[in-house]
Amino acid sequence: MVVSNRLPFVISRAADGTLVSRPGSGGLVTALLPVLRDRGGVWVGWPGIADRDGDVDAALATATGKAGYQLAPVALSAQEQAGFYYGFSNEVLWPLFHDLHSLCIFDPEFWRVYCEVNRKYAQVVLENTHGDDFVWVHDYQLLMLGSELRHAGLDTPLGFFLHIPFPPLDIYLKLPWRFTLLRALLEFDLIGFQTLRDQRNFTDCVRTLLPEAGFTHRGQMVQIGDRQVRVGCFPIGIDAAAFERQAHSEQVAADAAALHAQVNHRELLLGVDRLDYTKGIPLRLEAFRTALRKYPDLQERVTLIQVVVPSRDDIPQYRDLKIRIEQLVGEINGEFTRPGGWVPIHYVYRALDRLKLIAYYRAAQIALVTPLKDGMNLVAKEFCASSVKRTGVLILSEFAGAAAQLQHGALLVNPYDLDGTADAIHRACLLPAAERRRRMGLMRRNVRRQDVFRWVNRFLEAAFAHDLDAFPLPDDYVPSAEAEHAYWSTELD
Ligand code: UDP
Repeated sequence: MVVSNRLPFVISRAADGTLVSRPGSGGLVTALLPVLRDRGGVWVGWPGIADRDGDVDAALATATGKAGYQLAPVALSAQEQAGFYYGFSNEVLWPLFHDLHSLCIFDPEFWRVYCEVNRKYAQVVLENTHGDDFVWVHDYQLLMLGSELRHAGLDTPLGFFLHIPFPPLDIYLKLPWRFTLLRALLEFDLIGFQTLRDQRNFTDCVRTLLPEAGFTHRGQMVQIGDRQVRVGCFPIGIDAAAFERQAHSEQVAADAAALHAQVNHRELLLGVDRLDYTKGIPLRLEAFRTALRKYPDLQERVTLIQVVVPSRDDIPQYRDLKIRIEQLVGEINGEFTRPGGWVPIHYVYRALDRLKLIAYYRAAQIALVTPLKDGMNLVAKEFCASSVKRTGVLILSEFAGAAAQLQHGALLVNPYDLDGTADAIHRACLLPAAERRRRMGLMRRNVRRQDVFRWVNRFLEAAFAHDLDAFPLPDDYVPSAEAEHAYWSTELD
């Protein structure tokens, strides 16, 4: 059984009032699909529509037929959705877990609704679970679910994967409900993180806040009361083969060529982000401006296409961010545009479909992926998988989870360092073709090998390997001081 905030089907009401359902297309859905189909699985989540009536049930029944596994909806009122999703999940946990605690609104009412809604999810899980099911819970919206399920008496194995970062102790301490939440997490049997950084942050918090907890197996097993909880890191991947295949298609090749022609065959820089303050879009634009000022040879030679996908626009901070981005694009274009010719930034504010996005990836010579902090960042991996000619250069924030795997091929930057990022842009433009191929080759190998199917297998393997001595985890699961040191002591040249 898979439990996530939303079902992998989007149910919405068309203009004529009828309900339509569309399957989700993310990597998570693709990777879990065969597992759920083979084992007759169930996916529990919110169906994407506030009201619940006979129509919604009928649309879900149709979607279940199409999916090949069962969909179990959690009905939420608009008010519950406001407190649980927009409130606690996105105005408390999201900023806090991305180290931006000054943006948090610690409203106790949000917390109350969050717990209530987690209980509702637990109810639907209990209605659909059978004796020997493995329940795999996803992400920050459902941190309390393990505890709710245990209180209701469920004793089947429970796994949890956190897709976003886990914050360092000092930041986590700000959370008024820090003890309850940490104890609730320890009701799962396996807790998975994206990177060693997140795993280490979590174990630091447990060590400090719950002195009754003990650690064995090189920190991978937490002993608390009579429970043993396994902790590991499982960096999520993408369906790399599918991206490669689509990047090779004729349509993508034609679209990519058209994009190049549109920018007069200049060096194409690409940014693709959801509208989110964690993505570091304003700082990136400022770094681009710094690059154009500091290295005038870049002027008229490079064009930045910045795609921003609308997101969470019910939250005021997101609306303000959009205004800030548009202001910066205007300022920079105003400063550098040449009459009748070059416009340095092309700004796209909408979601692109998969093939169009791959055309952008394939066309771009340089991708700018510079989040302030990110659990993984799939755009970085998708860019590598789509760079089939190995001509792309990835400029990557060292605070993206993906940096742990791609650090040897990418040009790493600190997104707060405008000069450093500007230098990296200049360096990327001058990087010889052979060096681009070498770096991209390294990253493509990693993305191909550590794809999303491997991620599912490794998580499930860890979930079922109860005896750690009999099934030791591979070395790269183990957080070691040396591995961390090697990572953080890399000079950003
Ligand atoms: N994406 C998309 N259309 C777009 C831009 C992005 O479908 O126009 C997808 C992209 O393929 C990627 C996801 O959105 O899989 C973004 O994932 P990421 O981990 O980079 O960031 P998140 O938005 O989950 O924080």
